[in-house]
Amino acid sequence: MSRKYLIAGNWKMNLTPSESEELASGVAKAVGKDASVEVVVSPTFTALDRVSKIIEDSTVKLGAQNMSPKASGAYTGEISAAMLRDVFTKYVILGHSERREYFGETDVLVNEKVLFALESQIKPILCIGETLEDREADKTLEVVKTQLLGGLESVEESQLVDVVIAYEPVWAIGTGKTATPEMAQEVHASIRSLLSEKYSASAAEKVQILYGGSMKPANAEDLLAQADIDGGLIGGAALDAASFGALVEAAKKAP
Ligand code: PEP
Repeated sequence: MSRKYLIAGNWKMNLTPSESEELASGVAKAVGKDASVEVVVSPTFTALDRVSKIIEDSTVKLGAQNMSPKASGAYTGEISAAMLRDVFTKYVILGHSERREYFGETDVLVNEKVLFALESQIKPILCIGETLEDREADKTLEVVKTQLLGGLESVEESQLVDVVIAYEPVWAIGTGKTATPEMAQEVHASIRSLLSEKYSASAAEKVQILYGGSMKPANAEDLLAQADIDGGLIGGAALDAASFGALVEAAKKAP
């Protein structure tokens, strides 16, 4: 497989800037200069600059948890792509289910952010996934398709290689419930097949599709062994350098 594994931590609204520095140093120490697996940490906005400096001599890259689709101006409380780029942010998590649920983010808004991130040379990690209600109504693939195609509207084939997709079943986020490797693989394969239909098989083959939802060292090996799972978007287990480091190690050993 030509795709590199990517392990991305989403620290959510946790840790002060000082605590974030401490965790970032632990992650940088664990990862060092090894580049066989791509590693991203995504602290809160106020910690980005300090974490950026801590990881600068490692291969760990910086991610943000959100971004405005606007370049600048009267948008109180928002953070722009230029502000993120200035502190060397390379990735941005967009359309996370918590943003969709608590902040009313729609596919249209997420798409605007995806397009603007790409234009700004920040790689979007586009999050998609079904709720428990969707899964029980047998609507998983339909919901995932709508969110995927909605989020990628007007994204060109040449830009696709810079997009990361994170499949995160909402019912598995922060709940300790994980999709079985087979359940996750089924959705990942269908995401790749939708990408292949929209773009081309060769473009789809290059896209990293991450799994997110209670991934931890105990279940990572089986998930990462699946053909279309190219890494993880990690919440809880990313808040501990040893657990996060163990996930990076699992990705190094994955087939
Ligand atoms: C997430 O929020 O993206 C996530 C996957 O969280 P957790 O690992 O805690 O389920």
